[in-house]
Amino acid sequence: MVIRLSSDVDQRQVEFISLMLQKSVGGMHAEVCDQCGKCSSACPVSKEIEGFNPRQLIARVALGKIDELLADEAIWTCTTCLKCRERCPEEISPYDVILVLRNLAYRAGLNYPGVYDDFINGILERGFISEPQEVRARGGGRLSREALGLPGVNGPKDMAVFRGIVEKIIEAGKGN
Ligand code: SF4
Ligand code: SF4
Repeated sequence: MVIRLSSDVDQRQVEFISLMLQKSVGGMHAEVCDQCGKCSSACPVSKEIEGFNPRQLIARVALGKIDELLADEAIWTCTTCLKCRERCPEEISPYDVILVLRNLAYRAGLNYPGVYDDFINGILERGFISEPQEVRARGGGRLSREALGLPGVNGPKDMAVFRGIVEKIIEAGKGN
């Protein structure tokens, strides 16, 4: 698989990206995609967002247009519903390809949606992404976890240790 990356990505990152693609994307044999379009016809995002299409995404991977894909904001619009993976007759998984591309884009220092920083900050502050929300009841009004008989949501017992581990994971994700 040909990997084209911009010159401002250092060699260590290129090597890592090559390895990831070989192990993950390459292992799915993107080249055997027959462009049947079953993934795209099942994809809820394709119906709503012009420019997002798992069939085309696999074609671009097979053509080695990785650099172009990493910079494409479309890779962040996938809802991770897995329908493409379920429908593909060739056992290719656009979903898994997208997850690899997102990881690689992050490592390459490319833009990612700011909401991911909110997720990380929530985890660092309280141990989970966001406080539980009340749910809408059938007859109107809203119900809390307590009203539904569910236990409360607690963060880790030792927040300092937990935060240290998460920070190490974040650094590892950057390739540091
Ligand atoms: S996992 Fe992503 S690409 Fe696949 S069908 Fe769902 S939204 Fe579309
Ligand atoms: S369903 Fe599979 S074979 Fe068909 S276009 Fe999508 S990835 Fe290719």
